[in-house]
Amino acid sequence: MVDAGHGGKDNGAYRNYGGAEKVATLDVAKRLERKLRESQLKTVMTRSDDTFISLDQRVAIENSQKNAVFVSIHFNDSRRRGIHGFETYYHSPASRDLAATIQTKLMTIPHSMNRGVKTANFRVLRLATYPAVLVECGFLSNRLEGGGARDSEYRELLADRIAEAIVEVRYGEGVYHAAAAPVTNELSPPALARPRISARQFTARLEFFSAFLAPGGCDNDERNKNNRGEKRERFRIVGVTGGVAETHRQFCFHHSGVGSEQVA
Ligand SMILES: [Zn+2]
Repeated sequence: MVDAGHGGKDNGAYRNYGGAEKVATLDVAKRLERKLRESQLKTVMTRSDDTFISLDQRVAIENSQKNAVFVSIHFNDSRRRGIHGFETYYHSPASRDLAATIQTKLMTIPHSMNRGVKTANFRVLRLATYPAVLVECGFLSNRLEGGGARDSEYRELLADRIAEAIVEVRYGEGVYHAAAAPVTNELSPPALARPRISARQFTARLEFFSAFLAPGGCDNDERNKNNRGEKRERFRIVGVTGGVAETHRQFCFHHSGVGSEQVA
């Protein structure tokens, strides 16, 4: 069950950076639904266009299919523009594993910030018969994440990580990529077999985020070379959002020029 938050007269949050929440949630939900279908899961969407669906209608849909899992897609909002990060909510103990797995997968996205797996009394979670979670895919009010919400490649990345988590919880590790294998570069060593984003996309994104990020150091690791002897570099990125310096995730990338980006 894929639930795109809001819709119709209910815009959800609306911010300059991210646009209307209902638009971003629908797009991520559609991408997620397609990925799940490609992984041989039976899927149902609570809405597939810009329609208003009440919370009670959503609950009725979510409980209509036996042994379904329900994943509600939302984006967050804050008056403080520096606030950012992913949150995954659940209510019943049976939903905890799914929530934790989704959050873990989202944390593999570059510059992701972990705001935690949390419990909440949201109606679609409280009244769910089967495992149900609600994912807050970042803050529209934040320049970095709001910009991401407007970026189709970033929304694809969100959908990919959530789909991977759902398939993993259902069928175990490794199944997701076997079912929906991306095009891989034969020159890539095993660690690079899974393309994330291209070097060009990565560079463009880094430039876009440059207002937030100041390089915090770089150390070349001689042991980290790809199969063509090209060196992997490790950078530490320090965010200076909201005037508060925060250390973000470490990441590595190859100067290989083959478009295979691996983010640690
Ligand atoms: Zn929402």
